[in-house]
Amino acid sequence: MIKASEMTPNLYNSLQLLIESTSSELPIDVAMAMDLAKKNEREKSSAAYALNIIEENRVLAKKYIAPLCQDTGTISFYINHPQHFDRTSFEKIAIDAVILATKKGVLRQNSVDSLSGLNSGDNIGLGHPGFYYEENQTGSLEIKLMLKGGGCENVGAQYSLPDISLDAGRDLVGVKKAVLDAVKNAQGKGCSPGILGVCIGGDRSTGYAHSKKQLLRFLNDENQIAELKKLEEEILADANQLGIGAMGFGGKTTLLGVKIAPLHRLPASYFVSVSYMCWAHRRQGIILDNDMNIKKWIYR
Ligand code: SF4
Repeated sequence: MIKASEMTPNLYNSLQLLIESTSSELPIDVAMAMDLAKKNEREKSSAAYALNIIEENRVLAKKYIAPLCQDTGTISFYINHPQHFDRTSFEKIAIDAVILATKKGVLRQNSVDSLSGLNSGDNIGLGHPGFYYEENQTGSLEIKLMLKGGGCENVGAQYSLPDISLDAGRDLVGVKKAVLDAVKNAQGKGCSPGILGVCIGGDRSTGYAHSKKQLLRFLNDENQIAELKKLEEEILADANQLGIGAMGFGGKTTLLGVKIAPLHRLPASYFVSVSYMCWAHRRQGIILDNDMNIKKWIYR
């Protein structure tokens, strides 16, 4: 059992660093994809202008350890932990780390009571932050953090196939039509260029959760399921022909990546859940040593 007393203060410090890095710095794979997107646009085009502004913002955020975006987003911790891990103590420490990061301005105060609309002032509230756990047998402790903004969350979509309006049946051709429909509907409102996490199957709740989890994958990882690898590539290519571009200003890059995974489903339902992540794809991760210090950064 890893006790709370063993977790602090090193874990508290490590989580502080994780929050700072996640909020202020793009992961290496996303930064590289954004650089490429900028290179591909015509000089002085609206898309190039938008991507230049984003780049300036990125440089300043990293330099001053300031939020990449004013929208802190939903704070989600994904923890892969050894057996007998003290989840309650971990959450207390993580919540304290979020409160401190908010006080320091690394995270803007951005979580409100759903009924009163009142801001909690410290980014803590019912169900926020979110904690998602997986247990491993290896003894390692890996913590990933994702900050997902409201604009891109709003353009996420869930389809129940068949969908007559899209002429989308219960097969991968239908899935492709549904996902591209979500991209068309989003236009620039999700702060494109975006990244899609997609789940085929599951139920309404597990489908969305699993689609969001795909956003933790590296942009350049390879789907081990050949037909889904092909589908990811096709959707990415087709979406980038739509001309939506950065922030909807037109251009060649509407999406930076597409990540698709299946879940078993009931014969009666066929959900396609799409989580849209904006260019400010704030995800970072750490692997901790036995003293709860950072041994390795995952997305640097
Ligand atoms: S969608 Fe992303 S980039 Fe746009 S405002 Fe929200 S967090 Fe910021």
